[in-house]
Amino acid sequence: MNPNTVTHGQAGTPAIEAKGLVKRFKTGRTFIEVLKGVDFDARHGEMTMVMGPSGSGKSTLVAALSGLLKPEEGRVDALDVDDLWENSSSRIDRFRLDHCGFIFQGFNLFPALTATQQVMTVLKYQGVPKDEARRRAIAALEEVGLGARLNQKPDSLSGGEKQRIAIARALAKNPALLFADEPTSALDGQNGQVVIRLLRRAATEHGAAVVCVTHDPRLEAWADRVIHIEDGRILDDQRRTPDPNATLGSH
Ligand code: ADP
Ligand code: MG
Repeated sequence: MNPNTVTHGQAGTPAIEAKGLVKRFKTGRTFIEVLKGVDFDARHGEMTMVMGPSGSGKSTLVAALSGLLKPEEGRVDALDVDDLWENSSSRIDRFRLDHCGFIFQGFNLFPALTATQQVMTVLKYQGVPKDEARRRAIAALEEVGLGARLNQKPDSLSGGEKQRIAIARALAKNPALLFADEPTSALDGQNGQVVIRLLRRAATEHGAAVVCVTHDPRLEAWADRVIHIEDGRILDDQRRTPDPNATLGSH
């Protein structure tokens, strides 16, 4: 385990809870309702998988939970922040910076930066001194198996390696909440498996509440809980026993 990383909250205790989320977008003269009264919660030490077809509202839900996109109705209580959306935008930004890690389908890396610099940038932004940022960045990259790629830039890395940098970047700040939006969909089976196992470990070993949204049902094997969403509504919510050694196979 990354020696910089403390464990968050007791496994199984609530990390984030949302009630009655409604999100509408204006399209021309009409509104479309993308979240139609969503209740949601996720716990420390667990991987909560939100599964649903494209367009069902998964990314919108992540944005509403993490302080990126304000819902029209409902509330989000996250860690020690009550009713997140009632806070000032600078308080919400600080919450996101301090406590949330993000992993997206498209990696979102800076083309000109080395792997170490990609991870350091986030830590420096958080106010971590440079030497400590470097040390933590290297530890996080080693944890995802990229100890031999520290000085590579994205264009000389595979898709799987890029996503592992994105995971290292998210884990280096030791977030209590880790949001992954379609983290494996740009990857082949083998690389997807590496990525989902790392997310699983972030929950089990670091106590993060991992919220992973995907349309790939094969990822269910790693989840503690699977929530199905369709057309902006939660259809069902089931607990299961994760299999950390499950295999994804190839596409
Ligand atoms: P998913 O992540 O499950 O594919 P999204 O949350 O991205 O779904 O989108 C849900 C629906 O909301 C889609 O129909 C999408 O077109 C619509 N939508 C998302 N963002 C916007 C926006 N900024 N403006 C208008 N419609 C949007
Ligand atoms: Mg999406």
